Amino acid sequence: MGYTLTRSEFDQVLAELGKKYRLYAPVLKVGEGRFSETDVVIYDYIKDSSEIEFEKKSDFSFKEILTPLSQTLFFFTENVIKEADIDESEAIVFLRSCDMHAVKRLDQIYLNNGRHVDTFYKKVRDKIKFVLIGCPSSFQDCFCVSMGTNRTEDGYIFSVNYGGEGFDVDVKDPDLDRIFASSGAAKKEVKADFVSENEVQVHVPEEVPNAIYQADLWKEYDKRCVACGRCNLVCPTCTCFTMQDAFYTDNGKVGERRRVGGSCMIDGYSTVAGGGQYRRKHGERMRFKVLHKIYDFRKRYGYDMCVGCGRCDDVCPEYISFSNIINKVDAAVKEGEQ
Ligand code: SF4
Ligand code: SF4
Repeated sequence: MGYTLTRSEFDQVLAELGKKYRLYAPVLKVGEGRFSETDVVIYDYIKDSSEIEFEKKSDFSFKEILTPLSQTLFFFTENVIKEADIDESEAIVFLRSCDMHAVKRLDQIYLNNGRHVDTFYKKVRDKIKFVLIGCPSSFQDCFCVSMGTNRTEDGYIFSVNYGGEGFDVDVKDPDLDRIFASSGAAKKEVKADFVSENEVQVHVPEEVPNAIYQADLWKEYDKRCVACGRCNLVCPTCTCFTMQDAFYTDNGKVGERRRVGGSCMIDGYSTVAGGGQYRRKHGERMRFKVLHKIYDFRKRYGYDMCVGCGRCDDVCPEYISFSNIINKVDAAVKEGEQ
């Protein structure tokens, strides 16, 4: 069922939902960007529509709501282990089509990746519902159309198109119709806004021969990439983490175990027992990341990991473009075929 709402009607709906759910959405933080006097759009709690940033792409994804950067899993003493409590209240997260597709990738990794379900992820995931934010036009560096993530038809309770003043909503969950109808909203045929073209286009090669591992294209990143890991931090589909034990006592027998976000681009990620380290060169790390996103994951699950959000391009201090690299890989593959 579709509705068109004024701002006050939409706020009435959010207030009603807020009684049961924590509401998260992209929020503009003025002056809190990484450089002096720059802004940043990150996910945060919201109470009403004025707090939601509808017109900019979020610099950081929703990912930390599902997989916090640092998450205490359990506490331990010499004799007892106790799982950490989680916030049991339900949550609604506003996100765009590419990020809806990223949720599918996170679910794949944490819930459908071999015999074991990640129970810590599942507990949080089970509490979360999604609202789709329509995209009337493409943002800078997005290449969702090439990655097939520009449209999404399910997985959300309603979609919302923001038109400057009013909100057009397509309600998918019939349980919510009562809330929208009682806001006084008028009924209207509504379809979520999806982009059909991006300025940036990539071509992902279907097959990548082993020869690509030795290709010259990676060498450029030995010097150019500074291995800061920002690209991993903002990526909605990067799922690597490391385990850290924090000890409360000198004997190391009382403390807590934390899962902390990891990055395949930074020093130490591939260090193994004895001090050995794979992928020392930054170009080798780039190769690992890129092929994982556009080839290795697909070999295992049948679809690409990268959703084409372009956030890694936006955040890289060295202006390294992931979409450019995809096209360079494609060109190298084609060259090798000749
Ligand atoms: S953000 Fe750029 S410089 Fe930093 S690790 Fe990623 S590609 Fe390298
Ligand atoms: S690799 Fe870059 S473009 Fe692809 S999903 Fe991650 S942040 Fe987005």
